[in-house]
Amino acid sequence: MKKTVLTALAIITSAVTILAQQPEKLNTSEIYEAVQKLNFLGTVLYVAAHPDDENTRLISYMSNHLKARTGYLALTRGDGGQNLIGSEIRELLGVIRTEELLAARRIDGGEQMFTRANDFGYSKHPDETLAIWNKDQVLSDVVWAIRKFKPDVIINRFNHTSAGKTHGHHTSSALLSMEAFDLANNESAYPEQLKLTDLWQPKTLYFNTHWWFYGSPEKFKEVDKSNMVSFDFGAYYPQKGLSNNELASIASSQHLSQGFGRQNIRGTEKEYIEYLKGDFPKDKANIFSGIDTSWNRVKGGQAIGDILYNVEKNFNFKDPSVHIPELIEAYKLIQRLENEHWKSIKTKEIISIIEACAGLYLEGTANTPTLSPNSDLKVTIEVLKRSKAKIELKSVRLLPLNETVNVSTNLDNNKKYNYKINGTIPSDTKYTNPYWLNKKGTLGMYNVENQNLIGLPETPRSITIAFNLNINSTPITVTKDVVYRYSKPDKGELYRPFEIIPEASARISDKVFIFENDKQKEISVTVKAGRDNLEGFVSMDYPKDWNVYPEQQKIAITTKGEEQTLVFTVIPPKFQSEGFLKPKVNINGKIYSKELIEINYSHIPFQTVLLPSESKIVRLNIQKRGENIGYIEGAGDVVPESLEQIGYTVVKLNSKDITPENLSRFDAIVVGIRAYNILDGLKFKQQLLFDFIEQGGNMIVQYNTSRRTKVDHIAPYDLKLSRDRVTNENAEVRLLNPNHALLNYPNKITKTDFEGWTQERGLYFPSEWASNFTPILSMNDKGETPKDGSLLVAKYGKGFYIYTGLSFFREFPSGVSGAYRLFANMLSIGKDNINIDHKLND
Ligand SMILES: [Zn+2]
Repeated sequence: MKKTVLTALAIITSAVTILAQQPEKLNTSEIYEAVQKLNFLGTVLYVAAHPDDENTRLISYMSNHLKARTGYLALTRGDGGQNLIGSEIRELLGVIRTEELLAARRIDGGEQMFTRANDFGYSKHPDETLAIWNKDQVLSDVVWAIRKFKPDVIINRFNHTSAGKTHGHHTSSALLSMEAFDLANNESAYPEQLKLTDLWQPKTLYFNTHWWFYGSPEKFKEVDKSNMVSFDFGAYYPQKGLSNNELASIASSQHLSQGFGRQNIRGTEKEYIEYLKGDFPKDKANIFSGIDTSWNRVKGGQAIGDILYNVEKNFNFKDPSVHIPELIEAYKLIQRLENEHWKSIKTKEIISIIEACAGLYLEGTANTPTLSPNSDLKVTIEVLKRSKAKIELKSVRLLPLNETVNVSTNLDNNKKYNYKINGTIPSDTKYTNPYWLNKKGTLGMYNVENQNLIGLPETPRSITIAFNLNINSTPITVTKDVVYRYSKPDKGELYRPFEIIPEASARISDKVFIFENDKQKEISVTVKAGRDNLEGFVSMDYPKDWNVYPEQQKIAITTKGEEQTLVFTVIPPKFQSEGFLKPKVNINGKIYSKELIEINYSHIPFQTVLLPSESKIVRLNIQKRGENIGYIEGAGDVVPESLEQIGYTVVKLNSKDITPENLSRFDAIVVGIRAYNILDGLKFKQQLLFDFIEQGGNMIVQYNTSRRTKVDHIAPYDLKLSRDRVTNENAEVRLLNPNHALLNYPNKITKTDFEGWTQERGLYFPSEWASNFTPILSMNDKGETPKDGSLLVAKYGKGFYIYTGLSFFREFPSGVSGAYRLFANMLSIGKDNINIDHKLND
């Protein structure tokens, strides 16, 4: 899938940077489009909740067809979803999805914005969403985005009247956008923002409607569309050789972690936006009607327009450098604009056009991809001018190190100029890290104190190069981030951002350690050096009642990037207890307690993320029966590893391995999440699995989605899956059958075992089942009827079949002790003598 997308990408023009990291190099078609955009002063903001919610057809159309500045405000970074390309979840998945959005925007031409809201998982109702998010903070961030981006038109992805019918985050995004539309121009709303930006009133608010909101295309045809504006999202762009919807498909295919790689679409495609509030456009063919989107929009703009419309009209595709004198004149006039908003946007745009027209190549590459503060940085500068434009390179300055090379040379056509700048990374330089992860947040919110960072997709890079140029006797400074450039024999030239990392970081081998009895465990801590000749010692923070020895251990690492692993012995208490292990690396009295995580995928730039290094340790009071478990993996979960932690022997099985001989080795077969949705081979093995139960085995099936199961009978008795779910992880759990073996043997399960669960109780519970099944638990979200299908058990022959939609796959990696104890009972049911039998057979 990855490969297909990359091939598709390669077809697009060079501004779409293959492998995402290469610097932008515009060809003349792209320069021309940039001039067209420079001459359009109108702005559209699209609002939704998650990465992948955005209608890339609309964003691409606004940006490429109408030439508008187009932004996508995603309230969250999508941390709560699942990752189809790797093991990163939660915050790390949020980082990947942020980068995937940026990759999509590089293709559809939009800009990306966020709020501080955290995607904490599914919620059924906006009331629940807005209780977990800090509603006031998220609203403040939407107002902030509007005041800063200053859209003429806002388009909501979701219907603000759909509470309870879709994801609560979705409806919330529309509700907050409605509210912010009225607040952005109100000086008593979030007045502290007005020190950094000013009031703004968007003209019109729309909802990006679609036939699926009406049930079918036929029903939508009948709908009165007098308050709707329509577009042909299939518009063709000859300069790109692509249709708008084709470009949009390539953009949304960047969401690889969500499995959004898909085929391209072409051809005419009518879509509608529905008027919600503000001014309804007089001319329905133009959503900017009534707004002057020409240079006349700004005071002093007319003279700029006189120059730049001429450049657009007479654009020289063979030699765009002939336009430099006019562009410089326009640049000078832009500098005199009183309107700071348009001045800053248009300055940035025109500098990049001048740079491209002049055939300038300006780059500063570090000799290493990472450095820690106080280390020496060596940067190689490359400057090239590939045109007849008259350009003098005055100086090159490394910031914030303030090391300068004074040059004062007129650049010859196509002659390469190289310079070296060396300096020491200042000791107070901040580590490269997503700014929203620097401080601990809450379940619903990231903690960001610096108002200027709020909304930005990424942390601005700290080390940059300023190229001070004289173009047609006008001083212009072009600033670039320092990068790291390298090559691989099988990949060619590659780029990585240059990053500042701590001199030491530490990671523990696992995120959760389960102690099933009072035996000690050896736990390894790996220290990574961020610089050469690292020496210090490592100790551990741990909860009281636990013990860790030795107290501290020495480390000595000679080369940057190398690691040293230390083993600590961790001794649990004799009773149930849990807490956290936190390694501390002491280098000359400075303590480092973060883990450095690298995220490396080819469709997004390389990322490093610093997170607190900690592992949960849980001393369980747990009994269990049975030993050998066969695990049929579904969509991927860490349940097998978790069961090994409590002492089971787990063998992973694929469909081919399911034979009567193999099955006879196991006490229980556990089926991983969504296995019946994705494994084609299982339908041929269902009878063998049922025979295994009949002969005395236990079979536990975890959740599958109710649609698209690949077997007719998921259980040996009738069982109907539904979309019932309980999303509140603290929802009350009622024991329907307190005396049932599942709740008593070998562990006595009480309500305490349902405390401390995470994200949700469970999903896709069966709603109907044969009388052979006994429901064990009852639960429901607020305002809903009791759901009794979360844990169902049936005796079949000599064994037991259990179906459970409880989210063990989420609870195990969080070290939730009650989840382990309940699962041990599920595996143990009917196994009272099995350990003795095994011993007799040995
Ligand atoms: Zn969504």
